[in-house]
Amino acid sequence: MLNKVLIANRGEVALRIQRACRELGIKTVAVHSTADANLKHVLLADETVCIGPPPSAGSYLNMPAIISAAEVTDAEAIHPGFGFLSENADFAERVENSGFAFIGPPPEVIRLMGDKISAKDAMRKAGVPTVPGSDGPLGDDIEENQRLARDIGYPVIIKAAAGGGGRGMRVVHTEASLANAVSVTKVEARAAFGNDTVYMEKFLGRPRHIEFQVLADGKGNAVYLFERDCSMQRRHQKVIEEAPAPGIPPELRRSMGERCVQACLDIGYRSAGTFEFLFQDGEFYFIEMNTRLQVEHPVTEMITGVDIVREQLRVAAGEPLSVRQEDLAIRGHAIECRINAEDPKTFMPSPGRVDLWHPPGGPGVRVDSHLYSGYAVPPYYDSMVAKLIVHSDSRASAIARMYVALTEMVVEGIRTNIPLHLEIMQHSAFKTGGTDIHYLEKRLGL
Ligand code: ADP
Repeated sequence: MLNKVLIANRGEVALRIQRACRELGIKTVAVHSTADANLKHVLLADETVCIGPPPSAGSYLNMPAIISAAEVTDAEAIHPGFGFLSENADFAERVENSGFAFIGPPPEVIRLMGDKISAKDAMRKAGVPTVPGSDGPLGDDIEENQRLARDIGYPVIIKAAAGGGGRGMRVVHTEASLANAVSVTKVEARAAFGNDTVYMEKFLGRPRHIEFQVLADGKGNAVYLFERDCSMQRRHQKVIEEAPAPGIPPELRRSMGERCVQACLDIGYRSAGTFEFLFQDGEFYFIEMNTRLQVEHPVTEMITGVDIVREQLRVAAGEPLSVRQEDLAIRGHAIECRINAEDPKTFMPSPGRVDLWHPPGGPGVRVDSHLYSGYAVPPYYDSMVAKLIVHSDSRASAIARMYVALTEMVVEGIRTNIPLHLEIMQHSAFKTGGTDIHYLEKRLGL
């Protein structure tokens, strides 16, 4: 096994990774910004290194500082968590070239899947269905683009090949607005991602977002850990996730899972990854792959009993996966609510001191959070401060369990979106299951 791992992240996910390391007897190095010296995992780490000022550009995105920290502490591997440098192929390459293991896929695979056009291409070759659209990048020929859009059928969506975080996308309803939409998206994509390549897809009107979790050891073994439904979104950001996705026929689940596994083997995938799909009228359409651990991985852990971070650490140490496909089964149902430090009505961030933190408990309740009473949530980073996950034998009892757990959860001093989650747990459409990605925004009147 590994001896020492550097955790290049902060907050809840850094603590999650640290817990897995400590259970395996792996020492941890916590790197942090000057605003984060009091993070829970920093206080629990074997070694800590301050890598820069609060803005992430100088700290959590500061590649030389992170690699130097690994050098001075003699770490063997670097876990990037999610966000920050987790899907940065250049970072993975620099980590490996400096003699450390990158806990994730090989740099060239991150690069391949980080470009949404080459990712779709790779998936088509592996037999995974994709959203109908342009075969490659859009050119500057307006008439050619209009012809393409007519063939696909309006509405279409123009997307940045390098896009991420729900940015760099524009829906086009009419031919009259197409040329302008393409050029505006290009300008935005260049500014946001340093790459103005865009492509066109059919815009699906009422899809669900369903994704398949995979694990691969890079030695010819790969498994799928079934799917998650992440359709409850606001501004393309997930708010609630669950596993399994309601109403997916077992045969379809199996064939999609098997195709994802085949795609992993085809592209030489290693570590944990997620294939994201839109699902409409009984069909799956691949949109992108996330080549990292996901925020919502706990719901999959709850229904399969597999510790995904532990598997990542095993694979990074050169060991095979500890699970085989035939051993995996779905047990019960799990739901995750993302608890954000924000106003539940206006969604404005609400950083500040947590005067009282009292997490819920009881059977099937899991809380992944770095909060403690007296901790001050800094204003510089993502507003997610906790994940509340419940597991039960059925979806209905999981919803009831989540409702009770939410009523027990006490976070004083800052505002949180707990009231929003309590409301959603009582919506009849959510209780029925299978709502599409626009449901929440419509319901909120946005
Ligand atoms: P990002 O990398 O920014 O997350 P994705 O390609 O995963 O971008 O898309 C994010 C979200 O945008 C999806 O979950 C969905 O809500 C919406 N979306 C993307 N492509 C389409 C499409 N072809 N039709 C309808 N909605 C889409």
